[in-house]
Amino acid sequence: VEKIGFLGLGIMGRGMAMTLAKAGYPLTVWNRTPEKAKEFAALGVEVADSPEQAAEGNDVVIMMLADPTAVREVAYGPNGVLEGLRDGAVLIDCSTVDPATSQNLASAAGQKGARFLDSPVAGSRKAAEDGQLILMVGGDENTLGKVRAVLETLSKTIIHAGGTGMGTYLKLCFNLIVGHMSAALAEALVAGAKAGLDPAVILEAVNSSVLANKFYEWKGNCILDRDFTTNFSVRLMHKDLNLMMSAAYGLNIPLPVTASVKELFGIAKSCCDPEADFCSVVRALETVTGVEVKRV
Ligand code: NAP
Repeated sequence: VEKIGFLGLGIMGRGMAMTLAKAGYPLTVWNRTPEKAKEFAALGVEVADSPEQAAEGNDVVIMMLADPTAVREVAYGPNGVLEGLRDGAVLIDCSTVDPATSQNLASAAGQKGARFLDSPVAGSRKAAEDGQLILMVGGDENTLGKVRAVLETLSKTIIHAGGTGMGTYLKLCFNLIVGHMSAALAEALVAGAKAGLDPAVILEAVNSSVLANKFYEWKGNCILDRDFTTNFSVRLMHKDLNLMMSAAYGLNIPLPVTASVKELFGIAKSCCDPEADFCSVVRALETVTGVEVKRV
């Protein structure tokens, strides 16, 4: 079996690393804030002192970090992953970044004689804990074949999107849709509630129609219950919409609707709690309209 180094024990990384530990992979973990590694140490998982040490000697090295800045610091920094990566290893970045960051990592890994896959994920906290993620992979078929068993442990579906960076680009397209859907839900619920509609009736209408989907049902009920427990933060959704805007800018693709959805998340980030779940984007509109969307 492959020896695995895992970096980043946030909401997603914690569940993913636990899934790998439970599957019996020899595992070394690292997290910037060391407290989050304690529960792993208690299970007998090795805890590294640096990203370099987490990478050292391992066959597969997985990163699950917040954003491109975090990935750059952990990969290229002093005592970074690239210093520890061994010849023949496979580096997998599961963080949601931009395609250029993925491409740069692939070349840097190549210079160490290692291979690289971008493999951002869809699915949230629970899917990470249950090994039921959807992986969007960029990179060559051979490299994917080499680590398929490890990736299957983490996921229910593996989508090979194309060459390096295409997994990342697919993930940005995916979150563009998630961003728009949450903004549509928030606007309709606030507009309805302000005019005197029972917001539950709005959800009922949507969910009885061809628009019905699990996402509106899940997040719609969270909003009505005022349950903003974080699965995916407002801060990270704003980051992803921003990454999509920049990637599209580089390709001369206008995204006029995404631009305003991104700004709505920017408002929610500054007016309310940036660490709350992204469905709390509704608070941005509640703040300016003076209405609260809740069960009546
Ligand atoms: P999170 O809970 O905020 O965790 C972020 C992780 O990145 C933590 O381990 C954090 O370390 C680390 N980190 C941040 N800045 C760093 C830096 N400068 N140097 C070193 N480490 C740094 O985020 P998450 O929800 O797990 O998301 C992780 C990635 O998955 C993000 O790219 C996100 O967009 C993506 N994603 C999330 C979800 C979701 O539902 N949550 C779903 C799909 C994809 P500390 O503990 O020290 O802060």
